[in-house]
Amino acid sequence: IIEIDGLNKWFDKFHVLTDISLTVSAGERIVICGPSGSGKSTLIRCINGLEKVQQGRIAVNGIDLTAKAGNIDAVRQEVGMVFQQFNLFPHMTIMQNCMLAPMRSRGKSKAEAEELAMKYLTRVRIGDQAKKYPSQLSGGQQQRVAIARALCMTPKIMLFDEPTSALDPEMVKEVLDTMIGLAEDGMTMLCVTHEMGFARSVADRVIFMADGKIVEQAPPEQFFSNPQHETTRNFLGQIL
Ligand code: ATP
Ligand code: MG
Repeated sequence: IIEIDGLNKWFDKFHVLTDISLTVSAGERIVICGPSGSGKSTLIRCINGLEKVQQGRIAVNGIDLTAKAGNIDAVRQEVGMVFQQFNLFPHMTIMQNCMLAPMRSRGKSKAEAEELAMKYLTRVRIGDQAKKYPSQLSGGQQQRVAIARALCMTPKIMLFDEPTSALDPEMVKEVLDTMIGLAEDGMTMLCVTHEMGFARSVADRVIFMADGKIVEQAPPEQFFSNPQHETTRNFLGQIL
């Protein structure tokens, strides 16, 4: 469902991603980890066209992102993204946050958008907060709203960029549980996270990046028990 072939990206002269090739099948759950500055965010931002790519090919659900500019909108319809900062619109209620994109980009009526919003807010167990504003919710609740908002676009793929790293420890679990629920429902997911418990229990494959390259990738059992590269071992030594 995602095909990345020979991707290279530069910020001016800085070579941020080097020869990235990666294929993700529908329903696969991938965890991406690696040191700060290794290019994890940049890579997943490339997958929904938030970053310009100078070399290589990215296709999402058969749509070639790199072929023509118009394809970016088509890809974004299929891909939901959740960031470290929740990025909710502060002047809109939870409900309105969730209704906006389906009405604007999917042509849903107000009633349809409301129904969708309620469905997914209920699914992340926050339906009762729909009339509140983001500032009236805890961090964990806001992040669950951000997930519901992405789901309202009925994406085929969900990208997560350190969704729990801005949260107080006691709220991490509720967000991870929501993500585990999504995984159990068969969602294709790419998660940048250092929550290695999540990686062990949910990921089909763990990808380790350093210096803009994929250093190694393996199923979690193998990745954690028998990392192949020195850089990976050092990294795991620091975070486990
Ligand atoms: P972290 O774990 O800290 O989130 P990361 O692996 O997500 O790190 P990226 O955010 O992808 O790393 O950044 C990779 C490198 O690219 C870093 O050195 C960063 O400074 C640089 N970089 C990121 N965005 C830009 C930008 N818009 N312009 C120039 N350099 C950038
Ligand atoms: Mg990052």
